[in-house]
Amino acid sequence: MSYCPVCNYDEFIPVYVGQAPVACTDLPETAVEAVLKEMYPLDIVMCRDCCHVFNRAMQEVDYEGFPMYNGGWSKHVELMARMLSSVASCERVVDIGGGDCGFLELLSKYTDGQYSCIDPNGKSDRFTVYTDYSRELLKDLSPDTVILRHTLEHFLSPRDVLRGIVSSVPPGTKFFIEVPNVEKTLDRKWFCDYMPEHPQNFTRNSLTQLMALCQLDVNLVAVENEGTVLCVLATKPEEQIPSRVLDCPTVEPLKFNFKQVFEEVDTLLGDESIIVWGAAGKGATFLNTFGVKRQQVYDSDERKVGKYVPGTGQRILGIEDVPEDCTKVFVTCPWRAHDIWKELTKKLQHSLTVYTYSNDKVGKV
Ligand SMILES: [Zn+2]
Repeated sequence: MSYCPVCNYDEFIPVYVGQAPVACTDLPETAVEAVLKEMYPLDIVMCRDCCHVFNRAMQEVDYEGFPMYNGGWSKHVELMARMLSSVASCERVVDIGGGDCGFLELLSKYTDGQYSCIDPNGKSDRFTVYTDYSRELLKDLSPDTVILRHTLEHFLSPRDVLRGIVSSVPPGTKFFIEVPNVEKTLDRKWFCDYMPEHPQNFTRNSLTQLMALCQLDVNLVAVENEGTVLCVLATKPEEQIPSRVLDCPTVEPLKFNFKQVFEEVDTLLGDESIIVWGAAGKGATFLNTFGVKRQQVYDSDERKVGKYVPGTGQRILGIEDVPEDCTKVFVTCPWRAHDIWKELTKKLQHSLTVYTYSNDKVGKV
């Protein structure tokens, strides 16, 4: 018997079943290491009550985090830092899961205060980093602003974690929370968004429910970065009164026509002249799910070049390795298709056809 990690309800709508390796971080250095990567089960369901989407087969996943950025992302992060600096006092800021403190760096361009980060993989030359989280530590830091960016979706029990945090900070503390938006995934049928590192996949509805269940007053729920992330501003109220829940839409679960898509991917990638782009994270989920066994795949992120795709074991090549006469590219992450078209057309100096997979269909962008 399983229960919704947000609202505790026990009736679910099946969304997606599959498996995937951890592919966002620490890419393997050899092909053998890559094919030996552990596969984690994905049994994605949606709660009938609060629309939370989660992996019913979730388990603790061991990985070391390093942030991955792509075009457009940095603009979004900058915007969020500016927004936060204008709505919160930011005198004592704690970024939980803040990694390399990139967000604190940006925030410090707009406000001045005492900044710290709590993250087992955290590092910074400028700010104090604590690698062990405890409620006592949080009480000592007594923040007026708590940041949880791309953190809550990693926990097996986000409600317990958030409740613990809320109970350890003073009343009036502002919360800035950002998570991936599964509504976009459901809408566009991007099943590659489901990964073992993210047992939780929030909708506006389930995220605001979670805030309310943790006694936070929700001030704002925003859909940002072309629909791919949800941002919430919330406040710990002065008195423990029942929180206000914003009215949020319920959403439809994701359904695939797998057989048809498999055939389409097979036919398209049977063409030897087409190259495959996007090797890690969601791209790796795609390659594993469809069993794409090309010798090479390409990626824009230089840190991934020379390494291997977890699960399938393909070697990852960079833009410098693209054959001069290449005219066709299949992009595994649909929302990157336009950027990659731009990048490759500039390098190759001739026209290029871009294919991708979106909305249950394989086709030209
Ligand atoms: Zn629920």
